[in-house]
Amino acid sequence: MRVDVLGVGFDNLTLAEAAERGMELLHTEGTHYVVTPNPEIVEVCREDPAAREAVNGAALVLPDGIGVIKGAAMLGTPLKERVPGIEFAAKLLEKMAGEGMSLYLLGAKPGVAEKAAERLRARYPGLRIAGVHDGYFQEDGPIAEAIRQSGADAAFVCLGAPKQELWMAKNGPAAGARLLCGLGGSLDVFAGTVKRAPEFWRNHGLEWFYRLCSDPRRLGRMMKLPLFLLHVRREGRKR
Ligand code: UDP
Repeated sequence: MRVDVLGVGFDNLTLAEAAERGMELLHTEGTHYVVTPNPEIVEVCREDPAAREAVNGAALVLPDGIGVIKGAAMLGTPLKERVPGIEFAAKLLEKMAGEGMSLYLLGAKPGVAEKAAERLRARYPGLRIAGVHDGYFQEDGPIAEAIRQSGADAAFVCLGAPKQELWMAKNGPAAGARLLCGLGGSLDVFAGTVKRAPEFWRNHGLEWFYRLCSDPRRLGRMMKLPLFLLHVRREGRKR
């Protein structure tokens, strides 16, 4: 049973459980995808039925962001813990490397996925990089085909939300990898071009604030956070 937060159903798992589940999906026939919505994406889903369908259609919906955890608690249906996409990815890669699995990296500006591939190879010996492509392409078909041809077990799809969720829902079967993970700006972090917030900020639920200070252009997007809390409060009263 998923925990509903304003129309998005979240899986109630710890980070370790989510990575385990990811591995199970990697060993299950067919193509599956993982999404990691934050409050901003939940707000997008409230307004955009196609985005909502793509997000809820995922095999795993993980709460990325302290706002979702707070929202679920305010609604009286608490989630176990925050599962940031990038941490889920790191745990999954450890396990994939242990089994010699292969990964395709899709997204970010030209050159970033190559750099991320280089660093991931060094950090996770045993992990095979099946291919990379930047996130600024015109046609979906050739990209899905490239993933299929690469034979990758998993693909990280990092095109920003809700583009990546819509892309995975539509192109997942053609891409053929067992597991696709929509991971926003993670390739920039893996490549080292963007730094994650220091531990203090992360531990105090302030990663969003750190990111805002490092990139004030995010302010417009972040105005969705107070709106999210307002909607949660309204929904809480209704329930
Ligand atoms: N991006 C992309 N193709 C696009 C638009 C965005 O590959 O058409 C990439 C962008 O370069 C960045 C990522 O998607 O690497 C989105 O990062 P953002 O920080 O916005 O995502 P978040 O982690 O906040 O979801």
